Amino acid sequence: MLFVDVIRKKRDGHELSQEEIEFFVNGLADGSIPAEQVSALAMAIFLNAMSFAEAGILTRAMAASGTMLDWSDQNLDGPVVDKHSTGGIGDKVSFLLAPIAAACGCYVPMISGRGLGHGGGTLDKIGSIPGYVAIPDAALFKKVVKEVGCAIIGQTSDLAPADRRLYSIRDVTGTVESVPLITASILSKKMAAGLDGLVMDVKFGTGAFMATTDEAETLATSIVGTAGASGMKTHALLTDMNENLGLTAGNAVEVRESVQYLLGDHRESRLDEVTLGLVAEMLVVGGIERDRAAARNRADEAVNSGRAAEVFARMVAALGGPADFIENYDQHLPSAPVVKPVWADQEGMLTNVDGRKFGNAIIELGGGRRKVDDELDLSVGFVDVAPVGATIDANRPLAVVHAANEETAALASDMLREACVLGASSPPDRPVIHKILDAE
Ligand code: URA
Repeated sequence: MLFVDVIRKKRDGHELSQEEIEFFVNGLADGSIPAEQVSALAMAIFLNAMSFAEAGILTRAMAASGTMLDWSDQNLDGPVVDKHSTGGIGDKVSFLLAPIAAACGCYVPMISGRGLGHGGGTLDKIGSIPGYVAIPDAALFKKVVKEVGCAIIGQTSDLAPADRRLYSIRDVTGTVESVPLITASILSKKMAAGLDGLVMDVKFGTGAFMATTDEAETLATSIVGTAGASGMKTHALLTDMNENLGLTAGNAVEVRESVQYLLGDHRESRLDEVTLGLVAEMLVVGGIERDRAAARNRADEAVNSGRAAEVFARMVAALGGPADFIENYDQHLPSAPVVKPVWADQEGMLTNVDGRKFGNAIIELGGGRRKVDDELDLSVGFVDVAPVGATIDANRPLAVVHAANEETAALASDMLREACVLGASSPPDRPVIHKILDAE
């Protein structure tokens, strides 16, 4: 097969065959198709899209390009289910959801990435726990998932290597924003993790990858349709990311809030809503509950009873972290030397927050990346972040900044002030879960 003919076929708007897509993925994985031809096909796909069937073939082929985890030899007594989020500011849901879902009977092998942009990724955040082995070998990963019920770890280079090469080429050729390519990229890694089911958190808003609900719904529909056609039952929640999720944004500060949530000390309402909604959907996808309301109650009870906190503690210890982490998390997590309230320039009601500007303030502090190889300062960020609708005055700051020095604290505080819009009246209520998509 001549690869240039495959490029021409997609350029002219035709559907590619299984053989052609597999030829492409093999050439991606072994390097025999050069970057200029990969980028030409990526652009043709960006312009002419792919059917669910084509995206499904691409997904399965990229998943099979590396190690495929298989849980069938573990004799697990529950479904293997995970969640994937398209990412947003203050998104610490994974730390809550994995132990809650495990406490409800799921097995959650959560393989996460590093973050590029407004904050660290789940892998960066978990890296603030001293001793935690974020990239264990496959045997330890499986053991922790089986014995504890969940393990949050980092992505190894043998997981969907064809996607890794395709993504790095898309990143520099203006072809990241292609719905079928995003779909296949996300799903190939999840399929390689050997899941029975998946729940997607597709976020929309100023702090998200997809700005509008329509864009988010298009991506969610593609993911649910493509995954379903490939035999991995997948539902999606469209959730609002027009403001920070929870009270904190950064890395260690988010782990701190997560532990406090699991201990029942403080459950911020939007974070609670998204977390319980996603866990409930995992229980439905995994066949543990049929009814969403019953599933949500079960998830809530796992937090209230302390069982989810106990699972989190066991996961941390099993992966090399401190045995007393949840009792003494403040002693174990890094803390920043400069801590200051960020006062607004005027009084008023917080009516809107520009998520992108807010995210840039975290990057300015050193808590998010500009370039892939940037080192993060895990101690910095914002805490006590005011929610939209809060009254801001001389007693209520916009947030409290945690910074490495006075200069970055001042710069980031200015950026936060610029991200926040104050007005005279309360903004309309925005439900955090906008819609649930399932294939049925
Ligand atoms: N996340 C991924 O893993 N892949 C994409 O293509 C986009 C977001």
